[in-house]
Amino acid sequence: MNTIHIKSAIQSYDIVIGNKIRHLVGKYLPRSYSAILIISDSNVANLYMEDIAHAFTDQEVYIEVISPGEQAKNINTYYYLQTKAIEYQLDRKSLIIALGGGVVGDLSGFVAATFMRGIDYVQIPTTILAHDSSVGGKVAINHENGKNLIGSFYPPVLVFYDTDMLKTLPQREVRSGYAELIKEAMLADLDLLNRLLNVSLPAVNMEETTYLLEKGMRIKADIVELDEKESGTRMYLNLGHTLGHALETKLGYGVITHGEAVAIGLLFAVYVSNNELKAEIPIHKLKTWLNQNQYPLDIPSEIIDDLVNIMKRDKKTIHKQVQMILLQGISEPVVHMIDDLKLRKYLTAFVMEEMKGGI
Ligand code: ADP
Ligand code: ZN
Repeated sequence: MNTIHIKSAIQSYDIVIGNKIRHLVGKYLPRSYSAILIISDSNVANLYMEDIAHAFTDQEVYIEVISPGEQAKNINTYYYLQTKAIEYQLDRKSLIIALGGGVVGDLSGFVAATFMRGIDYVQIPTTILAHDSSVGGKVAINHENGKNLIGSFYPPVLVFYDTDMLKTLPQREVRSGYAELIKEAMLADLDLLNRLLNVSLPAVNMEETTYLLEKGMRIKADIVELDEKESGTRMYLNLGHTLGHALETKLGYGVITHGEAVAIGLLFAVYVSNNELKAEIPIHKLKTWLNQNQYPLDIPSEIIDDLVNIMKRDKKTIHKQVQMILLQGISEPVVHMIDDLKLRKYLTAFVMEEMKGGI
């Protein structure tokens, strides 16, 4: 079992990572609580709710199960959960536990952040992707006009990661999580990137995944500690996300996974970096790995204009200049202003070259 300590101006907390540790979570709570509300989705609840609920034998425990998938991360589910929290008479000394992937984590975190102006919450991530979303305190729900547009910075009191729960993850979700690991490696660690690009996803074992996860979390933790509220370096974590989020918004939440969208975004960020900054990042190596591991990479050319328009509405856009994260090289991220005309030009060329197999 390993612990990563995150220093946060709002509240410092530990990430505890280990194999088969879920029954211990009760012992790691920083204080005692008047009641606990565990929120999960139906897939995860069927597999793990019993174990988690039993970890809090001496406490009053309530359970709410929502439907799985990104579509649930909306204002209606948020309101439903607030209603339940009120009905269960949770108070300011109560705790919310998010048991699940990024959807459950972001949503439950936002419920905790706003219920009675904020109560404690714990993240129990059950996906690889959630190694990213569970660190750094970003909580949110989606608006139909954009992902995560309604939210806050609100760190958990504990992240408790039992990697044993990852063994039931569908292959598509494994793929999704690995894209975010590739991103972290590109931002900070060439050796890690090379190690990742040697992984064959269907065959990867849990030990290797756990090693990579921990590395990724440490990279994320370092960045978040430097810049909790995203005024500077934290923006680098958006590498691959400008196009990634636009794809998710355009295609409809849940049609492709977040990581699959980010994977295309990463490839595009490398493409723009190589052209705009004359960076020399081996794009073929990345593309080959993505292909070998069945990431969907095609963008229909009919949606290019819509994607550019959505990117212009990105949270990072200032005065209509999209702020894209590019790479001067591996571990050398930069923020680059790019106007919509240029963005359209690059995206069109990228889609065309991709179709022709030129990348
Ligand atoms: P993320 O945003 O982290 O990718 P989601 O919350 O969207 O995660 O979950 C992705 C899908 O995987 C959902 O359908 C969820 O129910 C399912 N899921 C999450 N964790 C597990 C697990 N450990 N085993 C099996 N399925 C899981
Ligand atoms: Zn992401």
